[in-house]
Amino acid sequence: MEIRQGIPVSPGIIISEALILDSEELRIPQRFVEKDAIDGEVARFKQAVEDSNKSLEQEIDRLESEIEIHARILGVHRDLASDPMLHSEVEKLIRDNCYTAEHALSRVMNRYVRKLQDLKSPILRERVHDLQDVEKLLLSTLLGKRIEGLSNLKGEVVVIAHNLTPAQTAKLDPEKVKGFATDMGGKTSHTAIMGRALGIPAVVGLDNISTSVVGGDRIIIDGYRGVVIIDPDEDQVTDYLARAVEMEKLSLHFRSQAKLPAETIDGHLLEVHANIEIPSEVKSAIEFGAAGIGLYRTEFIHFQSPTGGEEVHFENYRSVLESLDGLPLTVRTLDLGGDKLPEGGLEEENPFLGCRSIRWCLANPEPFRSQIRAILRAGVLGPVRMMLPMITTIPELDKSLQIIDEVSSELRESDVEFDENMPIGVMVEVPSLALIASHVADRVSFLSIGSNDLVQYTLAVDRGNEHVADLYDPMHPAILQLISQLVRTGEDHGVRVSLCGEMASEPIYLPLLVGLGLREISVSPQLIPEVKQVIRNLLDYDVRILTERCLRMSDGESISRELRLWAVEHLPEVALRLT
Ligand code: PEP
Ligand code: MG
Repeated sequence: MEIRQGIPVSPGIIISEALILDSEELRIPQRFVEKDAIDGEVARFKQAVEDSNKSLEQEIDRLESEIEIHARILGVHRDLASDPMLHSEVEKLIRDNCYTAEHALSRVMNRYVRKLQDLKSPILRERVHDLQDVEKLLLSTLLGKRIEGLSNLKGEVVVIAHNLTPAQTAKLDPEKVKGFATDMGGKTSHTAIMGRALGIPAVVGLDNISTSVVGGDRIIIDGYRGVVIIDPDEDQVTDYLARAVEMEKLSLHFRSQAKLPAETIDGHLLEVHANIEIPSEVKSAIEFGAAGIGLYRTEFIHFQSPTGGEEVHFENYRSVLESLDGLPLTVRTLDLGGDKLPEGGLEEENPFLGCRSIRWCLANPEPFRSQIRAILRAGVLGPVRMMLPMITTIPELDKSLQIIDEVSSELRESDVEFDENMPIGVMVEVPSLALIASHVADRVSFLSIGSNDLVQYTLAVDRGNEHVADLYDPMHPAILQLISQLVRTGEDHGVRVSLCGEMASEPIYLPLLVGLGLREISVSPQLIPEVKQVIRNLLDYDVRILTERCLRMSDGESISRELRLWAVEHLPEVALRLT
């Protein structure tokens, strides 16, 4: 049994079998054999080594004349696979524990990998990849036809991975994949956002969970507290099952009230919208009481169909609007880059500071124009707003608005129906834009604070890097000052200011956000019922006083402590979640 603490990113508790994504999506279906099958299991392992070596030899012969370096690498793999120490350790585990050959092999390989990872020498650490390659080779030989890939899983699993790319998360089947845990990632990394979109418990930033767990291990993932337990004992399983039931009861209670308005005790009405990644999320957003879609992240449309262009975008918007049945939709133009990259995407030294988002769009005007056409056309099917991400300068905004004007003229000239009066807004995600917000407010219809990035860019902390996750603090006074200023600027210019970053779904932050004067937020669909319930328990007068107090504080830690104490006193249901 081993308990690991990571960063909770998607609520829920799950107890299931692990599938290690990094060992090439191979799942070990069985961990134990009967005592009388032990000799057969050892023989099976030896045969797999022999077969693997044979195929390695053939490959080496083929490559030696052509690509010598590859032949040399395979030579290293052959030597590792033939290592007598490896063989005797695997055999011992099979004989002592009645493990299957696959499970014993994975355990031994895992131990080797962990030893290598602890070494100071980068050259030796590089050997980890060789070991993992040998493990995959032997495992696939052992599993033969029994290989189960991510796309054809037969049973329920939790996925354990170093990281999950958007392309991998797109392949996850929520019917079978019941949770995930990763080495990398922070609270607002794209992997974390996907966990919430899939509605499954997820914990990230676990450092080396992918090499600590063996495929088939029993795992508990607690997405409320960020705890992962490898091979739990029976008492822990019983405790967690009971806790899961209790939390489910609380969620059901929140859900039963989800359609009630998000109105404070003293009558201030807030709009709680949903952030979505894929059209199928709209249904749950409505069920969970969303007032509309406040952020439709459209990158998935691009990943699934990079050359699909206008029609593919239009079809997606049409289907979302159909489900929304008159509720408003805010479509964000492509925000590619950073950690939202397709497989084999643009590699940059500092992707979050590189050709990301609107910069990519302005550098690739054709896909940008196609998307704008699709959004403008969708505007005749329902209330649509268009939102531009990661603007940092006024010329960049003006250029984008000019392109929207040009596309509108083209549509007009071609007699294509579109919304002539579509509200255009920007996301405030970079401090440079927040500081010149009054110039922005003169040009657009609404501002939406993208706090995930605003925190990252203001505090110089990579939102996806678990090693600096403790510095990623949305309660840093600088962030609160920026939000406060933005709300004031919006009021002065008659421009609506909303917030669509993950911080709006943290129950303890909500009193402060309401106290700062925000009247519209957008969060992951499954978190809406709780967010609305918290708002219904607030007194605007009280939270303004709380906010005044927090704005005078000099550090995020004191502000968070103050908010936590306040929640324990005023929001008993939230307090239950915090324990
Ligand atoms: C944000 O930055 O707060 C935001 C909502 O955008 P994303 O998380 O997609 O970068
Ligand atoms: Mg962003």
